[in-house]
Amino acid sequence: MTTGSLTDQLATIAGESALSTWTEPSSARELPLLTPPDEESCVRALQLATENQLALIPIGLGGKTSQTRAAKRADFALSMRGVAGVEAYEPGDGTVTVRAGTTMSELQAVVNAGGHRLTPDVPLPDRSTIGGVIAAGQSGFDRLRFGPIRNHVLGLRVLLGDGTGALTGGRLVKNVTGYDLQRLYAGSRGSLCLIVEASLRLFPLPESELVFTGQTPSLELAMESLRRAGELPLTWDTLSIAGQSGCYRVLAALSGRDAMLSSHRSNVDACIAELDSLQTFEGELARTARDSARDAELTGGWPHLRLLCRPSELSRQSELIFSALRELSESPPRIQVHPRIATLDLWLSEPDATRRSEQLIELFEVAATHSLHIEWLGSQRALAQELAASDTTTPALRLMTKLQSSLDPAGVFARGRFLGGL
Ligand SMILES: Cc1cc2nc3c(=O)[nH]c(=O)nc-3n(C[C@H](O)[C@H](O)[C@H](O)COP(=O)(O)OP(=O)(O)OC[C@H]3O[C@@H](n4cnc5c(N)ncnc54)[C@H](O)[C@@H]3O)c2cc1C
Repeated sequence: MTTGSLTDQLATIAGESALSTWTEPSSARELPLLTPPDEESCVRALQLATENQLALIPIGLGGKTSQTRAAKRADFALSMRGVAGVEAYEPGDGTVTVRAGTTMSELQAVVNAGGHRLTPDVPLPDRSTIGGVIAAGQSGFDRLRFGPIRNHVLGLRVLLGDGTGALTGGRLVKNVTGYDLQRLYAGSRGSLCLIVEASLRLFPLPESELVFTGQTPSLELAMESLRRAGELPLTWDTLSIAGQSGCYRVLAALSGRDAMLSSHRSNVDACIAELDSLQTFEGELARTARDSARDAELTGGWPHLRLLCRPSELSRQSELIFSALRELSESPPRIQVHPRIATLDLWLSEPDATRRSEQLIELFEVAATHSLHIEWLGSQRALAQELAASDTTTPALRLMTKLQSSLDPAGVFARGRFLGGL
C-alpha cells in the first residue's frame, strides 16, 4: 500500500461520499465499496489496485453476485452505478451507446420513447445495470426471440486491470474488424475487464402484443400445449411453464404486426384449448401479464438448479431429476420451464439449508450418472467447495486461464468467482 489505509486511498479518488461497504454474498465478507462518479475515477481506482497489488470485485448493483462463487481474495468492490447515462441514441439507425451503470429500466424508458425495444427483457430491470447484464451474459424473458445480450452488443469500451482503455467493435451495426472481443467480454463476469460503455442494437417497438395464459394440473399437458404452439409458423417471444405439482401456469407471448397476430390468434387458441382458466391479453395488459410472469420467476430468489439439454430430451431428463427428487423429499419443487429453449429451473422446497445442500449434491450425482448437464445457481459456501472440483474438468480451462493472465496479469479483477477458479 502506498500511504494511508485503503479506505483513505479510495476516498482520495472520489471523495468520502463515494465510499460505503458491500458484503460479498458468497463469503459474507464485508468490503469497502467505491462507487466512482465518472470514468476517470475508475481509471484511478484500477491504477491504485495495480500499484498496490490489490484485488477488486466489479459490480453493478450486485444482484447476481449472490450466484457467484467467493473470490479467493478481494480488497474492495467497485460499483459502476455512478457511471450512468445515455451517451448517444440514434433512432434512425436503431443503435444506442450507454454508460455501464445505467439501469435497464432507465435505458428502456429512453429507447421506448424513440420507438425502440431493448433486449434482453431481464427480471427487476430497475435493479440491473446494463454493464452487469452484459458482464453476466444474460438473456431475458424474450430469449426465444432474441437470444442472449452478446448477440446485440455492437461495441464495448472497457478498462483493463491497469486502467488502460480499450475499444472493441463500434457504434454501428456493420463494424466488426479484427477479433470480436465484445463477445469475449460479454459473459466474462468481471474477470477480464471493467465495462464502462456499450453500444447496442435495438429493435422496433412491436405494433401489438398478445399474451395467452392457462393452467393445468398436468405438466405433460402444459408441455404438449406449448410444443404445438411452438410448431406454428410464428416467432415467439416466450413460451413458459411455471408452478408446482398440481398447478402449472402456461404463458405464451407474441409480438409483431397487428394483422399477423390477429391472423394467428385462433391457431394459438386451438393449441392451448385443453388448458383451464384460459385468458388472452392484448396491448398494455399483455405487457403487464408478461412482466409479472417474468418477475415471478424470482419469487423465493434465484432457482437452486438449472437443467440444460436439447429440446427433444427435456421431458426425459426432467423426469430423471423429478424421480430422484421424489426419493429425497416429500414436497415437490417449484419449477420454471422454457421448453423451446430447453431449460428447467428448480427451487427445492426443503427449508433447511444443510439438508437442501445435501439434496443438491445427490442431484449432481444423479446428473453425473445419467450424463445430464445441470448448473447450480446458489451461493452456499459449503456446496460451492463441494462442486468446485467438477469445474477443473471444464474444456478449454487452460486456454481461459492463459487468456485471463494476458488481459489481467496482475490479478486486479478478483479471482475465483468464475468457473474453474478463474
Ligand atoms: C434479489 C434479486 C434476484 C434476482 N434473481 C434473478 C433470477 O432469478 N434470474 C435472472 O435472470 N435475474 C435475476 N436478477 C436480476 C439479475 O441479478 C441482474 O439482471 C444482473 O445481476 C445484473 O445486475 P447488476 O447490474 O446488479 O450486476 P451484478 O449482479 O452486480 O454483476 C453481475 C456480474 O457482472 C460483473 N459486473 C457487473 N458490472 C460490471 C462491469 N461494469 N464490468 C465488468 N463486470 C461487471 C460482476 O462482477 C458479476 O460477476 C435478480 C436480481 C435481484 C436483485
